[in-house]
Amino acid sequence: MSDGKPYGICILGATGTIGVNTLDVIARHPNQYHVVALSANSSVEKLLQQCLDVNPQYAVMVDENAAEQLEHHLKVGGCATQVLSGKQALEEIVVLPEVDYVMAAIVGAAGLLPNLAAAKAGKRVMLANKESLVMSGKLFMDAIHDNRDKGAELLPIDSEHNAIFQSMPPLVEGQQQKAGVTKILLTASGGPFRTWDIGALKDVTPEQAVAHPNWVMGQKISVDSATMMNKGLEVIEACWLFDVPEDQIQVVIHPQSMIHSMVSYTDGSVLAQLGNPDMRTPIAYALGYPKRIDSGVSQLDIFDVARLDFEKPDFERYRCLQLAYDAHRIGGYATIALNAANEMAVDAFLNKRISFTTIPLVIENALEQAPTGTPEKIDDILAQDLSSRDQSKRYISGL
Ligand code: NAD
Ligand code: MG
Repeated sequence: MSDGKPYGICILGATGTIGVNTLDVIARHPNQYHVVALSANSSVEKLLQQCLDVNPQYAVMVDENAAEQLEHHLKVGGCATQVLSGKQALEEIVVLPEVDYVMAAIVGAAGLLPNLAAAKAGKRVMLANKESLVMSGKLFMDAIHDNRDKGAELLPIDSEHNAIFQSMPPLVEGQQQKAGVTKILLTASGGPFRTWDIGALKDVTPEQAVAHPNWVMGQKISVDSATMMNKGLEVIEACWLFDVPEDQIQVVIHPQSMIHSMVSYTDGSVLAQLGNPDMRTPIAYALGYPKRIDSGVSQLDIFDVARLDFEKPDFERYRCLQLAYDAHRIGGYATIALNAANEMAVDAFLNKRISFTTIPLVIENALEQAPTGTPEKIDDILAQDLSSRDQSKRYISGL
């Protein structure tokens, strides 16, 4: 839209941390944004409240029983939102003509198909769901490029990638060398166990792993941050988003999480983006781009920051980070196996079926079994995802 009407927004994963923060930013700009559709997996109460608050045209609940309950409660509450259910409905809401921007904030592989559908329909895709890009890098980037004339755009929500995007000159896509970019410095907090004795990591509990020192996030990404698989997925995400090889990405442990990433240039300059660790900043940047809009985040008080520390990552402590670099170097099916096995391992860890230090072993097993080569079609990607999940399930049951 550009004729004064508000932009139509669809939020995939509305009830999650990113979804809730997105609604918070949108509520600050009622004349600029209008929520057309919301989705969630099965949290009836949360999605119900969101529908009552913003009155979207559509709400998708993937789980059918939950959808029935939501429909009932909405009727009782006098809300006219139409309820749809099933995975397919996610692809239906993103392509609606009233939708201009899609917040891709489902966690895990489940986001892949709706995100691709949004790209193909020429929407502004605000990508939080890094797992989908790790699985389908080339296919997803091609879908964005091939549909640019229809309006397709990709704006990173991950705070690091948003910071890199802000620290690069505009329109350098695929031209980083010409723009003088020499390196991307991807910052990481190091998670809650950065200073723990390595020998004690085997006894880490799910409760300890989800307690992130600087960010409030969903359970899966919190565990990924503790193993640093989150940073590994982000290395792969950055390679695709910014079209650079993995050896041009240096992970930097920066425990204060104030610098969200940096870009080094050939003239010796290093540009960084700083801010309080609050996802509403990257969300507001993607919603407003190329303008800047209020996000509700308090201004960084540089005198409060006091000090900024930087360390190199220890690959023995963070084996998952090494596995992600290796998988991207191999490419193709390996990154699909990496992601699928990680999702299975994190789920097993959260359900107390495996220890924290078994997570990388599950991933190694899936990587060993992954075929070489690169998938050409989405069906090949989905088939590999399923087969790596099966292999991981068997590996976990055999432990
Ligand atoms: P979350 O667990 O808080 O929320 C996940 C959302 O996805 C929920 O709305 C849930 O209903 C929905 N969902 C879960 N499984 C689904 C399925 N099978 N089908 C459809 N919907 C499903 O997660 P989050 O922390 O908001 O993270 C969402 C995504 O954003 C992840 O990919 C994460 O890596 C990424 N991300 C999050 C943060 C953060 O600060 N939380 C930062 C950067 C990137
Ligand atoms: Mg991040």
